[in-house]
Amino acid sequence: MHRAFRDGADGAVGHERDGCYWWVLEVPRGPGPPAPVPRAVPRAPYPGGMTETGTETTPAAGPDPAARGASLSPSRASDFMQCPLLYRFRVLDKLPEKPSAAATRGTVVHTVLERLFDIPRGDRTPEAALRLLRPAWDELLAKRPELAELFDDGEGGVAAAELADWLGGAEQLVERYFTLEDPNMLEPARRELYVETKLDDGLTLRGYVDRLDVAPTGDVRVVDYKTGKAPSARFEDKALFQMKFYALVLWRQYGRLPRRLQLVYLGSGDIVRYDPDEQDLLAVERKLRALWTAIQQATRTGDWRPNRTKLCGWCDHQAVCPEFGGTPPAYPLPVVAVTGPAETSAE
Ligand code: SF4
Repeated sequence: MHRAFRDGADGAVGHERDGCYWWVLEVPRGPGPPAPVPRAVPRAPYPGGMTETGTETTPAAGPDPAARGASLSPSRASDFMQCPLLYRFRVLDKLPEKPSAAATRGTVVHTVLERLFDIPRGDRTPEAALRLLRPAWDELLAKRPELAELFDDGEGGVAAAELADWLGGAEQLVERYFTLEDPNMLEPARRELYVETKLDDGLTLRGYVDRLDVAPTGDVRVVDYKTGKAPSARFEDKALFQMKFYALVLWRQYGRLPRRLQLVYLGSGDIVRYDPDEQDLLAVERKLRALWTAIQQATRTGDWRPNRTKLCGWCDHQAVCPEFGGTPPAYPLPVVAVTGPAETSAE
């Protein structure tokens, strides 16, 4: 049976504690489809034919997604499923969004957990990890100076108390990580790995995997850190969608089905694990193809329907959303006349 199962930070980690595995520095091998053509400038060659890339390409402008180098990431796929108009605002209109303290904290904590594994095994302590935190924030701020507005005191200075509080929250997340895994028992095969595969209809699936662990048996585990709380069982499928997306890409890219998908929720101290099978991933592939057909249809017709939900509370675009009395900006692409109903739905 392939169901998600979870551990808590309260000691109920149980029978498959990570220490039972010895995940070694090794890359997936084996037969499979031909290596994909990298869509970004290679940063470093991988042994075993894998390629790590530093940036994602931005599709060239044009009315037809297929002609724009059709590609989909888990985030954009989720955007479209949540609200087609939100997808349009983000992907086609590229409307700016305000930086978020929570998302920025997530970025910093991810950087710390990535760099933690640069430290030799045995020295990966909470104290060592916490020492990485402030430099990670300083580097991010240097790269994205606009983030300073998160802690602006209104007089051009830094709101020190707010910044300290925010950093304190990040420290708690890093410390909680150590209650869930012992990084001294792990040697990830890859961190922040760019993965990409092209389906036979031309659609490219792409994304970044936080961590890839490979066992001596060749079993692959895909790990993703979440700085929020674990969702209730009702919303678990949505959380696992991103992981199944990555599993599908890795399967197509390297010809081996990942054995385990693991979501590490630092906000609540939970781990959700899921062992996918081929039928799972084929279903995800069918869903993504249908989603892409719906996106292509909306791109050609300009018909991007808003979908009002509770999540609108987190949307930066209410001012230009018809659901909130706004008017979207002029459609940036040529519109093709509608000849029939949409062939597929987003779901
Ligand atoms: S406010 Fe809601 S309905 Fe409007 S674009 Fe944003 S997510 Fe969609």
